[in-house]
Amino acid sequence: MRILLVEDEHKIARAIQRGLQQDQYAVDVAYDGKEGLGLALTEPYDLIILDRMLPGIDDGLQICAAVRKKGLHMPVLLLTAKDQVQERVRGLDQGADDYLVKPFAFEELLARVRALLRRPEQQLESVLQIEDLSLNTTTFEVRRQNKPLSLSSKEYALLEYLMRNPNRTLSKDAIISHVWDYDADILPNTVEVYIGYLRNKIDKPFAGKPLIHTVRGFGYKLGIQ
Ligand code: CA
Repeated sequence: MRILLVEDEHKIARAIQRGLQQDQYAVDVAYDGKEGLGLALTEPYDLIILDRMLPGIDDGLQICAAVRKKGLHMPVLLLTAKDQVQERVRGLDQGADDYLVKPFAFEELLARVRALLRRPEQQLESVLQIEDLSLNTTTFEVRRQNKPLSLSSKEYALLEYLMRNPNRTLSKDAIISHVWDYDADILPNTVEVYIGYLRNKIDKPFAGKPLIHTVRGFGYKLGIQ
């Protein structure tokens, strides 16, 4: 899952970025309002974390409003120094989904990010399940036929993206833009290589039907065929 963080305080931004990356998210940081707006409108983020007070823009809320005006529905989490009912209402009215008042505990930010990334039908469940494969987004445990599997952080991120889009053909471009961040070194065969790693762990050791499928000329699909 790929996140855009718009925060001008470098120290806070780096701390949040590092923490989120440790939890297997791909994170791009924009340090001012203009850059944040540009990225928010052009890159396919799964979530935006948005500071309210930013250079280059009157109010971070403008980014939120512009995103909604363009018809984009990714969740937006506001970071605000203002803890007033009116301010909260204004944020939610402009299309934000949740907010955190600074200073906040990083654990709380993570919990809110997890909650916002859950699809409505998974509201109560933090476990994604496809056939006999399960992925717990809270503990990062992955199991097939109830046997725990050990994945690298990129393998985990790739599998999570596939499992959140079951039985859908996902292009390599879509996979790259949701699993790797802007600064990542992507080679033409990066996705193939990681799909190969995943197959070796989740399909090859298990008898029965494979879950990862190549859709020639298009991309990859996870599910039962
Ligand atoms: Ca700020």
